Amino acid sequence: MTAASRALVPCVLIVAVIVCPHSEAAPRTWTISGGEVADGSGGPLRRANVRIAGDRIVAVGDVKPEAGEMVVDAKGLVVAPGFIDIHNHSTNELTKDPAAETQVAQGITTIVVGADGSSPWPIADYLAELRQHPAALNVAVMVGHATIRRRVMGDDYKRPARDDEIAKMAALVEQGLPAGAIGLSSGLEYVVGSYSETKEFVEMAKAAARYGGFYMSHIRDEADKSFEAQREAIAIGEQAKIPVQISHIKLGTAAVWHKAATSIELIEKARRSGVDVTADCYPYDAWHSTLTVLVPNKRYDDPASVERALADVGGAANVTVDRMAAHPEYEFKTLEAIARTKGITPVALFIEMVKEGGASVIGKTMVEDDIRAFYEQPWVMVGSDGGIGLRHPRGAGTFPRVLGRYVREQHWLSLTEAVRKMTLAPATRMMWKDRGRLEPGAAADIVVFDPKTVQDRSTFSDPTALPTGVEKVIVNGAFVWDGSKPSGERPGKTLPK
Ligand SMILES: [Zn+2]
Repeated sequence: MTAASRALVPCVLIVAVIVCPHSEAAPRTWTISGGEVADGSGGPLRRANVRIAGDRIVAVGDVKPEAGEMVVDAKGLVVAPGFIDIHNHSTNELTKDPAAETQVAQGITTIVVGADGSSPWPIADYLAELRQHPAALNVAVMVGHATIRRRVMGDDYKRPARDDEIAKMAALVEQGLPAGAIGLSSGLEYVVGSYSETKEFVEMAKAAARYGGFYMSHIRDEADKSFEAQREAIAIGEQAKIPVQISHIKLGTAAVWHKAATSIELIEKARRSGVDVTADCYPYDAWHSTLTVLVPNKRYDDPASVERALADVGGAANVTVDRMAAHPEYEFKTLEAIARTKGITPVALFIEMVKEGGASVIGKTMVEDDIRAFYEQPWVMVGSDGGIGLRHPRGAGTFPRVLGRYVREQHWLSLTEAVRKMTLAPATRMMWKDRGRLEPGAAADIVVFDPKTVQDRSTFSDPTALPTGVEKVIVNGAFVWDGSKPSGERPGKTLPK
């Protein structure tokens, strides 16, 4: 019995042999009827019915439901390919929460894990475990540069790697891709990756390219040196002859705000010269972390360093306290407001707060016109950088937020272009021919949503609140979400097969 037939015909479980009309040999067919189809291509919406057989879409168009066939009424709703999240941090959480409620509730049907240089290892074991205990959604995995680097260099990683070490790392990449990984990820702002020279990434990326993988990078700097860091990512693509995905593209300090055009120009130039560079972007202008991350040189009691750190984020008004054990009364106030109340400078307040045990804060360090400019580029996809249990609203809100705010309310994008950025665009990056599109022969990964009500509800104070307006989510032909709760089905596969 297929997962789809289990999901759709509860009677099977009870009186299987007696009443169920379909057999194992002929997968049950059913139809989604009356909806407006956004097929992933970005072309206009069109009224069409969609027929599914087993785990495949078999017809899209003027198909009439057959007698006795189950029909899902999608009148007034949009029917689209399931969303593909190219940057997701649910690597380990899936084993605890295989229903992945906060993910499927957004319409996500496939996630790519192993981002930012950190991945499971060995790849074959991770995928085998997922095949044995499937999740509700499909999973693909990247080989992490930092994960490999630690295996080769151990604790002695705070230096550039020698050539013999680089050769060993490249050999491990060459194990990971045939074992099922789809590319190489890196995180150059994080501790392990930050010590690596460009040539190390080039050699590892060459190894990934030999197996048809792509290179995905949290680049070396997302602040004052953003453009240099983007140029380095492009150079790695050029030298290793590999497609490049810039993760969560952003301009995160005052010195580079409102300069998206500079990034766009340098990426467009690279694309014209034949480097296949694309990017993903999450729809939020703020991050969530500890107070101390604001000061990169870690001199938290040095007034000059703290002053510079606050200036970098545009001032103390852009930092909001989310949680502070020693001073609950600070919560949801900005550093500027707290300092004013106390009659001290924000710098003095910062130093005092660190001494009192620190706090978790929300840093509003991106500006909306840059986010909009990035989203307007056809080579920028929607990616969450989120995942199960994340304490940032992007973990449960990214995809409905783009559809609700950027499409419906602010008209930054057409609905079908936004859907393309969530479906065909990432599927093309992964070279998946049968995902991210709603057409005969494609996998039956489908989301049905209400374009009038789709909306994120997660916030910094309630980061796992579920969105509204996502009515049905289908993975490989089986329902995983019915508009208010997960179905309990686990039809997810590991991709590529
Ligand atoms: Zn990252």
